[in-house]
Amino acid sequence: MGNKLIVGNWKMNGSLADNATLLAGVLNGLPAAGAARVAVCVPAVYLHQMQSLLKDTPVAWGAQDVSAHERGAFTGEVSATMLRDLACRYVIVGHSERRQYHGESDELVATKAQRALACGVTPIVCVGETLAQREAGDTEMVVKRQLASVIHTVGHCTSELVVAYEPVWAIGTGKTATPEMAQAVHAVLRAQIAAATPNASRVAILYGGSMNAGNAAELLAQPDIDGGLIGGASLKAPDFLSIVDAAGVAH
Ligand code: PEP
Repeated sequence: MGNKLIVGNWKMNGSLADNATLLAGVLNGLPAAGAARVAVCVPAVYLHQMQSLLKDTPVAWGAQDVSAHERGAFTGEVSATMLRDLACRYVIVGHSERRQYHGESDELVATKAQRALACGVTPIVCVGETLAQREAGDTEMVVKRQLASVIHTVGHCTSELVVAYEPVWAIGTGKTATPEMAQAVHAVLRAQIAAATPNASRVAILYGGSMNAGNAAELLAQPDIDGGLIGGASLKAPDFLSIVDAAGVAH
């Protein structure tokens, strides 16, 4: 794996004015070239703004969801072709908030990943267990099932994925998996990807779940943690930049 990849997930936050201020802060504070790769995944209505503010900068942009359909009568949805049109490099698929609040199944998430790949947009496939599943000892089974569905659907394109391990109990709660807990799951995911593609080393496996300036360095130092998917801490430039700095050092 090359440089670490740090992706901000702004969730449903932002405004034209706030986004411009946040991005100016991030761009001004970015370390010199050669450190981490950086991207922000923003609400779809702001992708056009990202295209104008981030074009020709080191920061890539992406969406937080994509339709499983190509085009047509799907009111309110945004297609992968449209994301490509707005020069998105990434799209998050299967975030636990989509699985939980919108009933997204493993199969639907897999189809979304496939649509994104077909349009040249890299899906960031989120997997992760709930607290009840962890306590029942089902963590490994759950994340493997979620990823297996995507691998089955995208086949030889598995090496084009980014995967994010996000324990649901750690998202937005301030509770973080310990570096050892995260590394153990990442190693399981790495082995699963390696069994599916000879190019497994190309696949970045990100950790997400209350990653912040204080815990990033230790998490990113784990051998199978290739970067982070950052929610809350991506909304403040200094916090996001500290994580980017930690990723540059951990590389
Ligand atoms: C996320 O939403 O992907 C996430 C990891 O959120 P937070 O960092 O706020 O826990």
